[in-house]
Order: sequence, then structure tokens, then C-alpha cells
Amino acid sequence: MTPQCDHKPVWIGRIAISACAKCETVEWLSGDGPIDHAEAMAAVFGTFDLMGHLDALGAPSPKVLVYTPPRRQLRRYLDAIPPRVWLKAGPHLWLSHDGDHLLLATNHSLLFDNMTRGA
Ligand SMILES: [Zn+2]
Repeated sequence: MTPQCDHKPVWIGRIAISACAKCETVEWLSGDGPIDHAEAMAAVFGTFDLMGHLDALGAPSPKVLVYTPPRRQLRRYLDAIPPRVWLKAGPHLWLSHDGDHLLLATNHSLLFDNMTRGA
């Protein structure tokens, strides 16, 4: 944490997202106590559609997965997270967004395979 930090959780359903551009991290909380980042992300972003992947430029991993909200109203989920900065969302996972697209980057090939299954 830094003096400029503002770790204010934003609740989406039973999941709270506490994202900080200063620390470049995302913390996941649930109303029921601690929650695994993968479970929390599935709960919040599980309905987002995988559009494809990009060869990353300036991202923490060589490939980036691009997701879009299934409905425009769900773009507000992205507003819980500071835009246009890579935040560490889990041990091998970073996320970013531009207000319209959720971007996920991982350097963990198994995780990448899991996330791209069905794409
Ligand atoms: Zn912080």
C-alpha cells in the first residue's frame, strides 16, 4: 500500500473487487470470506464473451485474451477497475480494460488453455 492508495471495494453481486492502480493489484473478496481469484473472476466476468486473442504489446505476457460484456449494461463491471493499466489479478494472471473490453494476460500455459477452451 502507498499513501496514494484507495482500496475501496466495489461490490458486484457477492464479490467485491478492490483494484488499485498504485499497487497494480486487484484483491478479490466475497461476502462469505476469502475467495480464490479464479472463482471470483468467474463469478464476475464468467458471462463475458471471448472475442479472441492479441499478440500483446506492453503486456505482462506474450498473448492477451480479449473479452466483451454480453450486454452493454455489464460494462459497468469494468468500471470497478482502473482502466488502461495492467493489474495483477492472481499468481499468474493480469487484467486490464479499456472500458469496453476486458483484457487478460497470463504467463501460465495451462491457465491460458483453460481460458481459451471453447474459443
Ligand atoms: Zn494500493
